[in-house]
Amino acid sequence: MNNNHSLVAVVKCQTYKREDVQLAVHKGIQLIGGLSTIFSGNEQKLLLKPNALSGKTPDKCVTTHPEVFRAVAQLLQESSFHLSYGDSPAVGKISTVLAKIGIKPVADELNIPLADFEQGRMVSFPEGLRIKQFKLVNAVSDCDAIVSLPKLKTHNLTRMTGAVKNQFGCVAGFSKPEFHVKLPSAQHFSEMLVDLNHLLKPKLFIMDAIQSMEGNGPGSGDPVNTGFLMFSTDPVAMDSIACLILNIQPDRVLTNKIGAETGLGICDTNRIRIVGDDWHQFVKKDFNISRGPQIESGSSWKYRFARKLLTSKPVIDPKVCRCCNICVEQCPVVPKALFWKNENHPQAPVYDYQKCIRCYCCQEVCPYGAIRARIPLFRKIFDLIYPF
Ligand code: SF4
Ligand code: SF4
Repeated sequence: MNNNHSLVAVVKCQTYKREDVQLAVHKGIQLIGGLSTIFSGNEQKLLLKPNALSGKTPDKCVTTHPEVFRAVAQLLQESSFHLSYGDSPAVGKISTVLAKIGIKPVADELNIPLADFEQGRMVSFPEGLRIKQFKLVNAVSDCDAIVSLPKLKTHNLTRMTGAVKNQFGCVAGFSKPEFHVKLPSAQHFSEMLVDLNHLLKPKLFIMDAIQSMEGNGPGSGDPVNTGFLMFSTDPVAMDSIACLILNIQPDRVLTNKIGAETGLGICDTNRIRIVGDDWHQFVKKDFNISRGPQIESGSSWKYRFARKLLTSKPVIDPKVCRCCNICVEQCPVVPKALFWKNENHPQAPVYDYQKCIRCYCCQEVCPYGAIRARIPLFRKIFDLIYPF
């Protein structure tokens, strides 16, 4: 990125066939100038940060596909970089999740060690807009630079998860649910994500959008063939182009708007140079993503009234729920907004919507996709009258 424009490469790739992905990754890196223009001579130890939200198989589209991980890792190894990798999933042991999603077997085959995503240390960030210190995983301080490998998905709080949100996994353990409690609004949560990116400054972003997730993302949505990979050094520009393709105005994703306002990257698509394959062919006009208004947090009656009328809320499908207790465990508010009516758990847990901050952690972690966001009737009518 320079002050005037950013560069994003969009490269067609319609399958996860190894050779196809390798060709697309080589092409994309060349289109944005090659590795020598991205990394300085001092940046030899690179951390690969895929999205490893939960241990679902790659066909569910919850995580970065292992063939994308492989192609990027091999390309970097050919250029003599020393690699490590990892992420901190929402639930489950890190190595188990990475094995289930197919990334650990690839890393083992390529002799790439798992970085420390368990422990972390406090790093102060006085210039942060919202957050002045983060507890970052040790993996971050053990590397020279981060290569971020996001998956393109929907997200109930931030509308989409892509390049900017992918770094949330670099926040250590319990700090993540704490952020949800402290920052329940999309605005504040997005400010935190932008702060985190300013602090971490990943050098390269490669987005897996060969298949993406729409609907009930980021953990239980529907896979959809989108057919491309994206490459950039600017996460805001990358997410903004993703928005164009998903037919949503880029500044409706608050990490783009705030990222542009704070100089993290460029959201104005007139100032983003798109190279590679014609992106228009990938546009999904009816991509199922939340396009409606986002209500700020507050305690006044106006806020509570607007939230009730316009904000979606999590609901459990009792026919799908297997009473595993994971959602109750993960609900970050105290006392919990999700509880069992009966100690023996014969029925799905129930919500206390007065306590619920709509962070959607419960929906994100449900391994069976039993939790969905329900849009209130008034909001559906509102969306029909004022379509976004
Ligand atoms: S809703 Fe999902 S996470 Fe919660 S108890 Fe049921 S199956 Fe488990
Ligand atoms: S019930 Fe779900 S959405 Fe509500 S606060 Fe708990 S985890 Fe967040």
